[in-house]
Amino acid sequence: MFQYDEGALKNQLLELVRRAATDLPDDVVDSIKAARENEDEGSAARSVFGMILKNIDLAREESTPICQDTGTNIYLVHIPEGVSMRKLTALIHEATAEAVDKSYLRPNAVDSISGKNSGNNIGEGQPFIHFEEWDKDYIEFKLMLKGGGCENVSTQYKLPDVGLGAGRDLDGVYKVIVDAVNAAQGLGCAPGILGIGIGGDRTSSHLAAKSQLFRKMTDTNENPELAELESKLYADLNKLGVGPMGFGGKTTILGVKMGSLHRLPASFFVSISYMCWAYRRHSMSVKTSGEVSYD
Ligand code: SF4
Repeated sequence: MFQYDEGALKNQLLELVRRAATDLPDDVVDSIKAARENEDEGSAARSVFGMILKNIDLAREESTPICQDTGTNIYLVHIPEGVSMRKLTALIHEATAEAVDKSYLRPNAVDSISGKNSGNNIGEGQPFIHFEEWDKDYIEFKLMLKGGGCENVSTQYKLPDVGLGAGRDLDGVYKVIVDAVNAAQGLGCAPGILGIGIGGDRTSSHLAAKSQLFRKMTDTNENPELAELESKLYADLNKLGVGPMGFGGKTTILGVKMGSLHRLPASFFVSISYMCWAYRRHSMSVKTSGEVSYD
């Protein structure tokens, strides 16, 4: 039976939130540095990347949020058999409220009916926590902070799309993704990272898209067809010329990550989860001994 110290785990979760809010992962920082090097000397794009990198360094040094919008807190939690989801949810809530007190997080949970901010980042559906049971003997918490601006340009298509000439195949998928990034035109704080969910129903498709954003920038899709499409989209989307924050340039997209689900014969959804350059995600593994490791 997996056991843990509740007080210790709450503090470890608080540290996970601090890291996510203030310390951009190395693979993301490396891709931003590479993008800057790829832009022309003296260009607006290169200067924007310089400012973004300064901001990232400052946030890391001072343990302050990378962006004023600390986003929706999205957790993907893997648990061994017998671990209570209810108790882990309570600990995540406790750590979240404390993170607001410490100014790692902004109070971002607003009651959609009354318009009142809960003040502690907790509310119906906030944070968003998705649990999955696995056969390993430790708990893994993956946390992503997703800003509102980039969530606003995330979207979902239903194939076929006659206007775009997009049929129910991977070519159709390609066409709607190009359309979405073109429509965003830098809104959502480009350069973006795209999480794509192909298939499923309207809900599962969006979840599949967001889950893709937990992948590392440098990994390769296990499905060769999707790996090829990811590379093609990365190359072609960066020819759109939108550039960082819409200033023009060679970098509109930092990465494309795709996954697929089975679908009903009658439906073919393509969900696009657009993540901004402030691509904040970290993970934490906790063993029953209490030993913890962060990534
Ligand atoms: S979209 Fe991202 S970078 Fe832009 S304001 Fe929101 S969190 Fe910040």
